[in-house]
Amino acid sequence: MAPWLADSWARSTPPGDTWHLAGTHRFELANRLRLADRVLRSVAADVASRGHATVVLGATEKRYFESVSYIQAGEAPVSLLGAVALAPHLRDAMAERLAQGESVLVTAPEAIGRASRALLVRSLARSGTTDSLLVAEVAPQYLWEVDRRSTPGTEYCVRDATGRPLQCSSPRALAALGALAHEPPQAPGRFRWQSGTETWSGAAADLDLAAPATDGNWSVLAIAAPGGAGLPSGTGMALPAAATLAALGAGVLLRRRRPAQPQLAPGAGTLAHVPDAHGTQAQPMGAPERMAQMLERQKRVIQAMADIDRASLSRVDADRLVELAAGHMLACTGCDALLIGVLDRDVASSMRVVLTSSDGAPPAADQAEVGPSAVQLLAVPPDGTWVREVRDYGLLEAQAQRGVNGALLLPIYEDGKPIGIISIGFTGQHQIGSDESGNARALAGRLGAALTSAARAQALYAYTHFDATTALPNRQYLKEHLAQQIRQARRDRGRLALLFVDLDGFKKVNASLGHSRADLVLAEAATRMRACVREEDVVTRFGGDEFVVVLPRITEGTDARRVAHKLLEAVALPYLAGGDEHHLGCSIGISVYPDDAQTVDRMLRNADSAMFSAKEAGRGRYLFFDAAVNRAAVARTEIERDLRRALANTEFTVAYQPQIDLRDGRISGAEALVRWRHPTRGMVSPAEFIAVAEGAGLIAQIDEFVLRTACAQFRQWDAQGIAPQRMAVNISGQEIARTDIVARVESVLQDTGLRPLHIELELTEGVFLDHSNESLDKLRQLQQRGVRIAMDDFGTGYSSLSYLQRLPIDVVKIDQSFVRELGSNADSGSIVRAILEVAHSLGKSVVAEGIETEQQRALLAGWGCDVGQGYLWSKPLGAAAFGEFCRAWQKSGLAATLTQ
Ligand code: C2E
Ligand code: MG
Ligand code: MG
Repeated sequence: MAPWLADSWARSTPPGDTWHLAGTHRFELANRLRLADRVLRSVAADVASRGHATVVLGATEKRYFESVSYIQAGEAPVSLLGAVALAPHLRDAMAERLAQGESVLVTAPEAIGRASRALLVRSLARSGTTDSLLVAEVAPQYLWEVDRRSTPGTEYCVRDATGRPLQCSSPRALAALGALAHEPPQAPGRFRWQSGTETWSGAAADLDLAAPATDGNWSVLAIAAPGGAGLPSGTGMALPAAATLAALGAGVLLRRRRPAQPQLAPGAGTLAHVPDAHGTQAQPMGAPERMAQMLERQKRVIQAMADIDRASLSRVDADRLVELAAGHMLACTGCDALLIGVLDRDVASSMRVVLTSSDGAPPAADQAEVGPSAVQLLAVPPDGTWVREVRDYGLLEAQAQRGVNGALLLPIYEDGKPIGIISIGFTGQHQIGSDESGNARALAGRLGAALTSAARAQALYAYTHFDATTALPNRQYLKEHLAQQIRQARRDRGRLALLFVDLDGFKKVNASLGHSRADLVLAEAATRMRACVREEDVVTRFGGDEFVVVLPRITEGTDARRVAHKLLEAVALPYLAGGDEHHLGCSIGISVYPDDAQTVDRMLRNADSAMFSAKEAGRGRYLFFDAAVNRAAVARTEIERDLRRALANTEFTVAYQPQIDLRDGRISGAEALVRWRHPTRGMVSPAEFIAVAEGAGLIAQIDEFVLRTACAQFRQWDAQGIAPQRMAVNISGQEIARTDIVARVESVLQDTGLRPLHIELELTEGVFLDHSNESLDKLRQLQQRGVRIAMDDFGTGYSSLSYLQRLPIDVVKIDQSFVRELGSNADSGSIVRAILEVAHSLGKSVVAEGIETEQQRALLAGWGCDVGQGYLWSKPLGAAAFGEFCRAWQKSGLAATLTQ
């Protein structure tokens, strides 16, 4: 019990399976229950989606649950795992929580003298009624796993709200507490009771298990057994039990009798008496010699302390610290064999023991059971004590084997609690002077401080490396882990895969459930993902609804593919929350070391970009990173960034391409085409940036700039008497759909003083087909104001000629691809003629784009095409050049141009 209340959660490191227990502020028990709850919820989701008959529970569930039963009102309960359970009694408050989609924790009482069982219950009914339930008994070995390392000298019990014991540190305590079962529950605080002839006393504190909901508060009870080992206490010594209770908030430790002193060797005393107590005086030494030796030792101690501090600062682990300190202490005390034993944070009832000796043998490390002798040794007074019979103490066995016949014992404290012991052993007729013993004590203090800081660093590590919502490691952890895996893969010439998983549809879940419940869905998704991978794979929460899975040692891409498949399936199963089913999906991007990337950042970036492509390709799928796709994506992002700057720096200009009336050879109009003078790349083609601008929502600004510039330019040419009839301007379909295009065009016309009939807006077919009536309405409004509407690139989309009739169009621009093939491809000729025929019959005018040859012009003119545009006459020109072109055109006369 004690460990998860005080010691363990602060001291435990998060290795392997238990990493998720640490790192949050919460007690391990609450965490364990919460985890079990998550597993149960995913079972519930399975049962809800597939029916209980097809659900098979495996190793994951067995770890958490002793049994899982499906209980339908009026039907016999069905076991999904273990022994079948009966419907538990649920009070109204609990039923209410179930109705809210939560799980509740109830206890199933057992006979007196036996611990009650903890049951997690969930409703499977949509409305959260108790008609359909999942009842799971939380596996005691899972729930109380943390309990094995009980603090010596004190017994513990956890009780439910009715006072019944759920778990006790010993059968005796359990039996004793059983006597309380018929009495009203004890309030937090101290009390005594009678069990048989024995009088027990204890102090209780409430356990605030935030989730899942319990039927009343569970509490923990620290009890002093009558006539037992008691609660040993040295003068002013802080004991584990005391510290535990202090941490509990109970604040009191009941001592029914003066505790026994640890059974140390006869003649044990304080350090002041050490030389006498231990025996023979050493040979007398001269004063200068002694001084020199003392100074030498002093120097060594200072060096040792600095070394330990440095190690502690550089986050060396506890094992290394202990070894380091052992080496230094051996040297500073001049002893023959030095042993340090420190309680193991990870393994219950276990100590790590390091032995160094002056014979030059390398330090030996071992794992020892915390037996009664170790318990006694841990209770050594702060100043230390001498023992002669080292052999009496199992823990010091290794020293005894080295011939140690006397040792000075010093305790190691961490945060005021004894966590270890230092045994400075001598083999012969040695003594330890007060200088050396003082040094040893100082070093012991330093080691304790270093261990404390290592423990804090570990707790902080857990806190900063794990995510409380999903109990998964976080981004920080991922980066460190990935770096390590990459190093490993490099050494092994192996491969590893990184899967970037982004949930689809989580925003919706968040909006409908609220954050706290949506967090549960997130946690469940996380649990399912973990269940999809091997033990050595790591699932991390990258942030928000993004997860990253690292698969070390994959053999080929198919391994990653298989996991991706599993993840897609597991995440897509429905989620039960708030009494409703919710659905999520995910998109996954995969990058592989060393094929795609060799560094942490690159692996992440590549997987992220592949995930982005997966989303774009329609979500709910996975894609491997593809360098070519990525280059395009990078270019896209660069263009997008540059476009924003270009708008601010007016890097855009407008070019004008003349449109020639094919019947009389006059310049009938000009098409305004945007040009981007990029500061480093030179001219960038619209083909390269228009789509990016549309994607980035920047197109409206660009189009307005072009419209405004072109209108103002038209006014100037008008004033110079060289203006054509009208100015054609391209407008993106996106702008029609998303902006109030009518008002925008009107405002430009007003500002520039241009009449609407001089303006022709060119739109691609998509606008007419993909968009709503609303878009068409806007175009109609523009038409009504006198603006002409042209359908650009006609024939490249899905348009059929029959559409032309219904759409608000004045002009059809035949795409250059048809014009280019005129004369060489008979089909193109027939298509162009058909377009001309239908458009004319509907009263629309036709422009042919991309006319480059006289043959093309002649054919089109012969078929009655109204207007031509193309390199045959001119490329798009700057404003001044276009002005010149118009002047020259006017001068040269029409006849000449028509026969060109
Ligand atoms: P578009 O509207 O179909 O413009 C005609 C394109 O054909 C122009 O390319 C023009 O330079 C080119 N062209 C003209 N005559 C010939 C010819 O005889 N042979 C060949 N091979 N090409 C010819 P540009 O300027 O590169 O523009 C490409 C596309 O970019 C335009 O196609 C239009 O869809 C879009 N665009 C250009 N400016 C704007 C603008 O201001 N706003 C919007 N939204 N799109 C624009
Ligand atoms: Mg155009
Ligand atoms: Mg076009």
